Amino acid sequence: MECIKCKNEMVKAKLFMFGGIQIESETKSIFETPETSNVEVYVCNKCGYVEFKAKDYKKF
Ligand SMILES: [Zn+2]
Repeated sequence: MECIKCKNEMVKAKLFMFGGIQIESETKSIFETPETSNVEVYVCNKCGYVEFKAKDYKKF
């Protein structure tokens, strides 16, 4: 993934927050099962910019 700030190639990193972070889709009713996805973290080792990317973004 390319850094949007300086165009450097970003490297994958780990985020330590309860063993990673997850996102969940908003549901309109309690009967709906929300979609979940792990979040990948990338860091630019040139300027320090950090970017999050949902792993299963197509489910949303
Ligand atoms: Zn950068």
